[in-house]
Amino acid sequence: MIQTFELFHSAFFMIGAIFGSFLNVVIWRFPRGESIISPPSHCSSCNKQIAPYDNIPLFSWLILQGKCRHCKTKISSRYFIVEFITGILTLFLVITYGLTPEFYINLIFVYMLIAITYIDYDHYIIPNEFILLGIFILIFAHLFNWLPIENMDGLYGGIAFGGFLYFIGKIGLLILKKESMGFGDVKLGLMLGGLIGLKLSVLALFLSFLISAIFTLIGISLFKMKTKGEIPFGPFMAAATVVIFLTRTPGGGNSILNWYFTTMF
Ligand SMILES: [Zn+2]
Repeated sequence: MIQTFELFHSAFFMIGAIFGSFLNVVIWRFPRGESIISPPSHCSSCNKQIAPYDNIPLFSWLILQGKCRHCKTKISSRYFIVEFITGILTLFLVITYGLTPEFYINLIFVYMLIAITYIDYDHYIIPNEFILLGIFILIFAHLFNWLPIENMDGLYGGIAFGGFLYFIGKIGLLILKKESMGFGDVKLGLMLGGLIGLKLSVLALFLSFLISAIFTLIGISLFKMKTKGEIPFGPFMAAATVVIFLTRTPGGGNSILNWYFTTMF
């Protein structure tokens, strides 16, 4: 019994890693306006097409020790990291949700958030296509009641999450005289709020700022990270949302909120 259980789960890790491999292609090509379907993957240095046996998620990067088979140019560890993160989050989601409609919806959003994180980090943009796809999926999810929240709660969540960031951005513009919160973050908040509802949107906002503060402090003190005054906020919103996905309790509750309300009141 134990063995089939583990086999079942490790399969989801590998399936996730395969999607991670696809996300790597999306992260590189989409913001550059290249097709994500063709041409097949090739080395960015010597341009040689990558053979299927050198394109196995996780393993190929390890076997080739992070170098191109032909020209030995270094292949970024990011390829491995994205595949690993996608695999492990797929595994955690299936453990948390089982094979429910909510699992599939959250899985799609997690995959989008991984791509958004790296694209925002590289280019300081959150592509509108991702937001539109997300909203399209949300409309269906709400229509068929696949989410544990009321339709109106999704609307309030979106307004609260996106609206708060819009408000922060306006204040930042007044005080700092420059853009501190991009409109991409506002649109991302709108989408994520529609997915998690009002209560969890408040938690997501709190966690986004908390994670960004911790990350920035550690980065500056330990790694002498230089802030150009411009740190993309999308990745922190993505991290906060993933934390919320993974701390779900039955009936649409959340263990962080449960803990907070039992400890504080
Ligand atoms: Zn090469």
